[in-house]
Amino acid sequence: LDPDVFSKESHAVVDFIADYYREIEQYPVRSQAEPGYLSKLLPDTPPIFSEPIDTILEDVKKDIIPGLTHWQSPNFYAYFQANASTAGFLGEMLCSGFNVVGFSWISSPAATELESIVMDWMAKMMKLPSMFLFSGAQGGGGVLHGSTCEAVVCTLAAARDKALSKIGHDSITKLVVYASDQTHFTVHKSSKIIGIPPCNFRVIPTTASSGYGLTADAVRSVMKEDISQGFTPLYLCATVGTTAIGAVDPLLELGQVAKEFGAWFHVDAAYAGSSAVCPEFRRYFDGVELADSISMNPHIKWFLTNMDCCCLWLRSPTELVNSLSTNPEILRNNASDAREVVDYKDWQIALSRRFRAMKLWLVIRRYGMVGLMEHIRSDVGLAKHFEKLVKMDKRFEVVVPRRFSLVCFRLKPRFDDDDDDDDDDDDDDDGLKINIRLLDAVNSSGRAFMTHAIVGGRFVIRFAIGTTLTEMQHVDATWKLIQGIAKGLLLADHS
Ligand code: PLP
Repeated sequence: LDPDVFSKESHAVVDFIADYYREIEQYPVRSQAEPGYLSKLLPDTPPIFSEPIDTILEDVKKDIIPGLTHWQSPNFYAYFQANASTAGFLGEMLCSGFNVVGFSWISSPAATELESIVMDWMAKMMKLPSMFLFSGAQGGGGVLHGSTCEAVVCTLAAARDKALSKIGHDSITKLVVYASDQTHFTVHKSSKIIGIPPCNFRVIPTTASSGYGLTADAVRSVMKEDISQGFTPLYLCATVGTTAIGAVDPLLELGQVAKEFGAWFHVDAAYAGSSAVCPEFRRYFDGVELADSISMNPHIKWFLTNMDCCCLWLRSPTELVNSLSTNPEILRNNASDAREVVDYKDWQIALSRRFRAMKLWLVIRRYGMVGLMEHIRSDVGLAKHFEKLVKMDKRFEVVVPRRFSLVCFRLKPRFDDDDDDDDDDDDDDDGLKINIRLLDAVNSSGRAFMTHAIVGGRFVIRFAIGTTLTEMQHVDATWKLIQGIAKGLLLADHS
């Protein structure tokens, strides 16, 4: 790496990215590319000789940008946002710039120590119980992973090995994992990865009456039944802010059931974990003190941290380390041998690891707690505003209560001016068709991008607020777009 070339070319890239953000509203939010578009544009052999950065950037603009879905567009309301920030970006630059590999403390002491400090800061901001903090001196601590999926795989492996050491190492077919029909599929995937038989993954149904949260009674009865059949409850995942609709599982009751049956209790707060920095959302985390582990994503989601970054805290990291540690001679060193330090290689799947703490540290320092709270509240404020707009238009309905910055709504199928009630159970088919058409039309317009979910058998459109460029004017314009398209669809249906 030649520092002079680096300085010149990185400035060109930074300017290019700044222009991208300046122009972002010109691009269709969801890429309109057809499958295979890029192989028609790029040569099918690599270049023999070096090419200048300017030529490459021209190609990025010409060939790559048209194939991007613009996650940072102010009109991106799909999935959950991947909100990025200047601070997160600069932190990522420092992370890539140093390019250290802090798998053990000695391999880069600052990377390990900053990570432990930042994990404690995050836990303090979210008011997590001290048992999850290094400084809590009760044996807890946290680590940064690349994704929730990795965090769940690791905690499941720890839970599995702990359970098998009690019931015998050939008893894996007896272990059962519990989740709800709203739980992210990452738990199912992770359960397969760690060798739980597919038939031992229980999906417990939720209903509208509990706000699509898992109930303790439902879990208890499934666990009891399993025990009577000779199975061992291994792992229960509760979610604060489910992916489809932002539902919240009651942690206190579920934690008690997990304890009653000796199961590992994991809290997945990938999305809504960020909200815990605001006191008004902290109630959703009551009962987290019963968790064995908790994870949340500062990256793709809601904490202004560019990809990738997932926080995982453990009540007893020793159980994780017992499961994941290896001690090859080539990595031996005095600090590790003396057990004086954290070696994060034993808290994750891979050996190599990025200096992710750098960007989270930058985000926290540049925003401060006040800025982070403002950020969450401002997104929730925009979501409330959108929810109000939907409620004011009798042709539409908000399908599930909004808790955070996600609004799930739909166009009522057989709209009738006199019809004020929500009793439209017989309209599922019509509701499905018209809302699919509405969503397709909005997304094909290129002016906004939203995705859908099926809730209680109904097709709902998800409007997830969170990109940092989104302002009231964007929400209003998108709502007008939705209304206009809906009007056309309703007229076409009546003619
Ligand atoms: N859990 C929840 C609640 C999510 O919403 C998501 C992603 O949307 C995940 C887990 C998966 O996160 P990751 O991509 O970091 O594995």
